Amino acid sequence: MIEEDFKMTHIETKFAQIGNRRDPQTGSVSSPIYLSTTYSHPQLGVSTGFDYTRTKNPTRQTLEDAIAELEGGVRGFAYASGMAAIAGVFGLFGQGDHLIVSHDLYGGTYRLIEQILPKQGISATFVDTGEVQAVEQALQPNTKGIFVETPTNPTMRITDLSAIIEVAQRHNVLTIVDNTFMTPYLQRPLTLGADIVVHSATKYLGGHNDVLAGLVVARETEVADRIYFLQNSIGATLGPQDCWLLMRGIKTLALRMDRHQENALLVAEWLAEHPAISTVYFPGLFGHEGRDIHLSQARGYGGMLSFEVESEALVEPLLRHLKLITFAESLGGVESLITYPARQTHFDIPEEIRVSVGVTNSLLRLSVGIEHHSDLIDDLAQALAAAEKEIGAKGAQARHD
Ligand SMILES: *Cc1c(COP(=O)(O)O)cnc(C)c1O
Repeated sequence: MIEEDFKMTHIETKFAQIGNRRDPQTGSVSSPIYLSTTYSHPQLGVSTGFDYTRTKNPTRQTLEDAIAELEGGVRGFAYASGMAAIAGVFGLFGQGDHLIVSHDLYGGTYRLIEQILPKQGISATFVDTGEVQAVEQALQPNTKGIFVETPTNPTMRITDLSAIIEVAQRHNVLTIVDNTFMTPYLQRPLTLGADIVVHSATKYLGGHNDVLAGLVVARETEVADRIYFLQNSIGATLGPQDCWLLMRGIKTLALRMDRHQENALLVAEWLAEHPAISTVYFPGLFGHEGRDIHLSQARGYGGMLSFEVESEALVEPLLRHLKLITFAESLGGVESLITYPARQTHFDIPEEIRVSVGVTNSLLRLSVGIEHHSDLIDDLAQALAAAEKEIGAKGAQARHD
C-alpha cells in the first residue's frame, strides 16, 4: 500500500506506482506474480483472504485495485479478454431485458449483442447515441442498460456522456461505457456518473500488442457485488502472469498516450491535406463533429483516426505498399497498425448497416504508434503515391483497351 500520509493526486503518478509497496514482507517494487492456484488455511474457518485463484488472486487483486482507483470506481475486475469483460457485464441482464446500444460499435460487441444475447432473451436497439433524443425515443419499459462507445470505432463519433447519463438515471437504467479508446488517462466516465466502465486492456492499457485482457470497473458497491458474483461464477478471469504484464504496460500509459496523440494529430492534419483522401475522422481536427463535447468530457484526442481514400481501388495497393505501418487488426500498441474495418473488425456487420454508419469500403483505420511522426507520414506518402500510380496505370490501360 502507498504510505498512508501521502496522497497521490496525479494519475501519472498512480500509473507509475502500480504494485509498489504492496509486499511489505520483501519490499518488492515490481508486483510479485502469485502463480499458486490455492492457498492454505491456517485453521478451520480461517482464511488469509485468498482461497482459490478464480475467486481471488493476489496479483490480480493488485491490478483490479489499480484500475478501480484509476477509473474512480469502487471495484475493478480483470478478465481473459475485452470480450470476456463485456460478456461478464451483460450477465447483469436476463430474460426480457432490453438494451440501448451505440450503432457504431466494435464488431465483436455487435456480434455478442446480435447473436448471443437474443438467445438469453435480451433484446437491443442500436441508435446513434450522439443524439440524446434518439436514446430517449428508444427507451422501453424493460430497458435496463445503455452501452456506449465514445469516440466510436472507427468513425470517431462523439456521445455526450453527461446527457446520456442524465437520461439513464432518470429512467433507472445502467450506463456502461467502453473506454478502450480513451483510457482513464484521458476520460473517466464514472466520475461523470456512468455506472460501469469496460476496457479491452489488450489495446492502450497493455500497450505493446503482447497481452489479451479485459477490465471492468463499477462505480457503486451494489453493482460491483453482482459483477463479482458473475466473474467468479463464470470464471473468465485473467491469469497472474498476464495481470503482471498488463500492470507493466499501464505504468507507462501517460507517456505513451501523449506521444500517440501528438503523432495522431500530425498524421491527421497531413492526411486532411492530401488530395487522395476524402475524409479524415479525428476528434483533434477542427470541424470534427462533436469535438467541443468531446473536449468537455475528455482531456485529449487519443491516437486513433480513420480516413477514407477517394476510391476503393486505392485500398488494396495502399495496404500492400506500406512498409513501416503494419497491416494488422488491433490498436493501441506502440507500433502503428492499419486496419480495413469493412473486411476485418466490422466484417460481421451487414453491409448496408455498416455503410450507413460510415464504415464504407474506402475507410481505413489507423492506430498511430509512438514512432517518429515523420517516418509515419513518409510511409503513408510513398504508399499513397505508389497506389495512385498503380490504379492510374490501370485506368489508362482500361481506356486503351
Ligand atoms: C478490441 C476491442 C474490444 C474487444 O477486446 P478483446 O480484448 O479483443 O477481447 C472491445 N471494445 C473495443 C472498443 C475494442 O477495441
